[in-house]
Amino acid sequence: MAIERTISIIKPDAVAKNVIGQIYARFEAAGLTILGAKMKQLTKADAEGFYAVHSERPFFNDLVSFMTSGPVMIQVLEGEDAIAKNRELMGATNPAEADAGTIRADFAQSIDENAVHGSDSAENAKIEIDFFFGEDEVCPRLR
Ligand code: UDP
Repeated sequence: MAIERTISIIKPDAVAKNVIGQIYARFEAAGLTILGAKMKQLTKADAEGFYAVHSERPFFNDLVSFMTSGPVMIQVLEGEDAIAKNRELMGATNPAEADAGTIRADFAQSIDENAVHGSDSAENAKIEIDFFFGEDEVCPRLR
């Protein structure tokens, strides 16, 4: 398996619930390393740009409002098979369908307010990392 990087975003609902540490513990237990992190209040332009791929979807305006409703915690994760591993930890988009023990099953309340984002492909991971992090904001591997 390849060593990959991916983006994780802890969304405003989970930040407000004060569970950043509990979510970080799951990344660490799964062997994912945090190489960069920032807490940020997204602007409307940030959220619209980040989710541009969904701009034609009926939920787009609500998604932008939600993502700008409070600070988010954004991190670059690295590890073996990091993209799929993070998606597995997250669980299904709709928390009602998420496997027990996943982040969304445990911390999310609805398909709209679903606690976390994770890149869904290597191509998107690179785009999303570059969207939020400058080159000097992602540290090299620790070892
Ligand atoms: N979303 C929503 N309503 C929907 C479907 C998606 O509000 O009916 C939001 C939700 O926050 C989701 C995001 O749009 O996480 C991106 O949707 P996607 O299908 O890419 O799901 P994800 O990759 O986040 O599981």
